[in-house]
Amino acid sequence: MYILYILHIPLAILIIALLVAGILFYLVSQRYKAKIEELHKTIQESKEDIQEQIDRAEKSESYKEFFLANMSHEIRTPMHAISGMTNILRRNDHPKEQDKYLDAIHQSAENLLVILNDILDSSKIEAGKLKIDSIPMNPIRVIEDVVEILRLRAEDKGLQLKHQIEGNIPEQVLGDPIRLNQILTNLASNAIKFTESGSVQISLKVKQEDGEEVMEFAVQDTGIGIPDDKLKTIFDVFEQVDGTLSKKFGGTGLGLSISKQLVEMQGGKINASSILNQGSTFTFQLPLKAIMQATSQEITITEQELVKMGTSLGPLKVLLAEDNDFNVMLAKDDLSYYIPGIQIETAANGKIAFEMFKDQQYDLVLMDIQMPEMNGYEAARNIREWEASKQNSGQIPIIAMTASLLKAEIVKCYEVGMDNFIPKPYKIEELIGTIYDEAMKKKEN
Ligand code: ADP
Repeated sequence: MYILYILHIPLAILIIALLVAGILFYLVSQRYKAKIEELHKTIQESKEDIQEQIDRAEKSESYKEFFLANMSHEIRTPMHAISGMTNILRRNDHPKEQDKYLDAIHQSAENLLVILNDILDSSKIEAGKLKIDSIPMNPIRVIEDVVEILRLRAEDKGLQLKHQIEGNIPEQVLGDPIRLNQILTNLASNAIKFTESGSVQISLKVKQEDGEEVMEFAVQDTGIGIPDDKLKTIFDVFEQVDGTLSKKFGGTGLGLSISKQLVEMQGGKINASSILNQGSTFTFQLPLKAIMQATSQEITITEQELVKMGTSLGPLKVLLAEDNDFNVMLAKDDLSYYIPGIQIETAANGKIAFEMFKDQQYDLVLMDIQMPEMNGYEAARNIREWEASKQNSGQIPIIAMTASLLKAEIVKCYEVGMDNFIPKPYKIEELIGTIYDEAMKKKEN
C-alpha cells in the first residue's frame, strides 16, 4: 500500500507537470498564434502596400509616356508649320534682304527641335526605351557628315573645323550611325560654342584597349576650358560649368549626359580633359566591330531625283486628313510643287475623311493621327474594314503623318492597317520618297 502510495507521488507530479506544460504550451502557442497572425497581417499589408506602390509607379510611368507623347505632338506641330513655311518662303521669290530673317527663323526652329529631341531622348534613356542599332556604317563618313553640318557655324565664328583620321580605319563597321552622329554633333557643337578663336578638331584612330581593338574618337578645341572641379560633374544631367554662359550660348545641360549614356549603351567609355583658357578634349571609345563587306548603302536623294520621282507619280488624287490649317497649307504647297497635276482633297477630321473615302476614288490617303471627333487610327481602321466589306476593291495606301515619334504609336499605325508613316516635321525627301515607295508598291500588286 505504502509502495503504491510512494509510486503515485511521481506519477501525480508527472501528471501535474504535464498539465502545467500543456497549459503553458497552450498559453504560449495562443500568444504566438496571435503574433503569427499579426505577422501575417503585416506581411499582407506590406504586400498590398508594395503592390500599390508598383501600381502607382507604373501609372506615373504611363502618365509620363502620355505627357511626353502629347508634349512631343504639341510642340512638333507648330514647329512643323514654322520650319515648313520658312522653306516655302525661301523657295519662292522673295526680296534678297529677307534672307537673313528667313535663315534666323530656320535656325531657331532647328535649335528648338534639338532641345525637344534632347528632352525626349533623355526621358527615353531613363525609361530604358532607347534602342541602339547595330548596322553597317562607315565611321569616317559619319565624321565627314558632322563636319559638313557644322562647318558654317564654325566659319561664322572664324574657327577652323578640321578632322583627322589616323591609321587604317575599316570602311564598314557595325554600329549605330545616327547615335554616333548625335554624340559627335553634341561634342563638336559644344566645342564650337565654347571656343572664341582657334580651331576644333574631330579625330579618329584605332587603339588597343584590354586586348581588344576600339575606335577612339576625340573632339578637341582651343576654347575657354573647364575647371578641374567641374570635369567630373559635367556629364551629369543639367550640369553646366557656368549657368550664366547658357544664357549667352544657349543649351540645356543635357547634351553631355545623353552622349555619355549613348556611349555606355554601346559598351564604350567617355572622358574629358581640359586646361582652363587653353581648351578641352572629349574622348570616347567604341568597340570596333569590323565587317568585311559593305552590306548596305546609304541612300541620299538629290533635289533632281526628287523632282523626277514626283513627276513620275503622275496626276495623283490624294485625300489629306489633317485638322491643322497650317499643316494643310504646307502639305498642299509641298505636294503641288513636286507632284505635277496632283489633286488634293482635305478632311478636317477622321470622320469626314472616312465619309469622303467611301464616296470618291483616291490613289492615296495621308492621315494625321491626332484629330478631333475621330482620330487617324480609327479612320484608317474604318477604311480598311469598309474596303474588306467590298470584296472586289483592293487596298488604297494610307500613310500616317505623325508628330509623335514614340514607337508604340508608330506600331499602332501599322496595326490598324496603315502602310507607312511620315514624321512631322518631315523632310521633303521623306514626304515625296514615302509617297513614291507606296505608289510603286501599289503598281507592283
Ligand atoms: P549644354 O551645352 O546644353 O549646356 P552639355 O551637357 O552639352 O549642355 O554641356 C554641359 C556643360 O559642360 C556646358 O554648359 C559647359 O559648361 C561645359 N562644356 C561642355 N563642352 C565644353 C567645351 N568644349 N568647352 C568648355 N566647356 C564645355
